[in-house]
Amino acid sequence: MYEKMNLLRELQEVDQELAELATARAGFEGELQGLSDEKIRVQGMVDELQSQLDELQGEEAQFRREQVAEKDQIIKVESRLPDIQTQKEYVAVLKEIDMAKKASLETQAKIAAKDKEIAELQADFDEKQTELTAISEKCAARQAEVDSLLQESDKKYSARQSTRDSLAKDLPKSLLSKYQRIFTRRGGLAVARVIEGACLGCNMQLPPQQYNRLQRGTELQSCPHCNRLLYMDRD
Ligand SMILES: [Zn+2]
Repeated sequence: MYEKMNLLRELQEVDQELAELATARAGFEGELQGLSDEKIRVQGMVDELQSQLDELQGEEAQFRREQVAEKDQIIKVESRLPDIQTQKEYVAVLKEIDMAKKASLETQAKIAAKDKEIAELQADFDEKQTELTAISEKCAARQAEVDSLLQESDKKYSARQSTRDSLAKDLPKSLLSKYQRIFTRRGGLAVARVIEGACLGCNMQLPPQQYNRLQRGTELQSCPHCNRLLYMDRD
């Protein structure tokens, strides 16, 4: 009886360590996932800013092409001046030149406004790009740290796992599965100590008769309140 109980207590200790290691692993994985999500989020912002920049630069290039065409037009119209015969024609050409120059100035203003927009967006882009670089570096550094921590913890885990296997194989199957059921349902505590007639798993008092049976130690006792397997320290 004591022997089985001692095995169960050892098993529980190992199982608690295994659970802690698994929780720590999940925590590290969650942390890395969080960093990766953040990186993806900032990368998305950088990509979006890049495509806005591309668009603005495309518009700016279009204005510049228009400006070239307008300047050509001015030269073309001006070249007609020496051949003009009449005053009426002269006035018409001057008016045409004037309009072409006005259009060119308007395009110049559009280019300047677009350049200003581009410069502002470029500043945002540079800022986000810097942020992305920092996050990427942080991600890579933490990944390396966590990899080595996980490697260590995985080694520990498999060592504990084999300890667990060897403990478990010395226990009767029905007892083992009962233990496992309680361990899962009762937050990782299946085997509870009894002090002064109270189960420390749920802090409830045992019926006196059961407490007596537990003290005799002839058969395995379960707490009537929380169902945990009970033991007493005998020292
Ligand atoms: Zn209890």
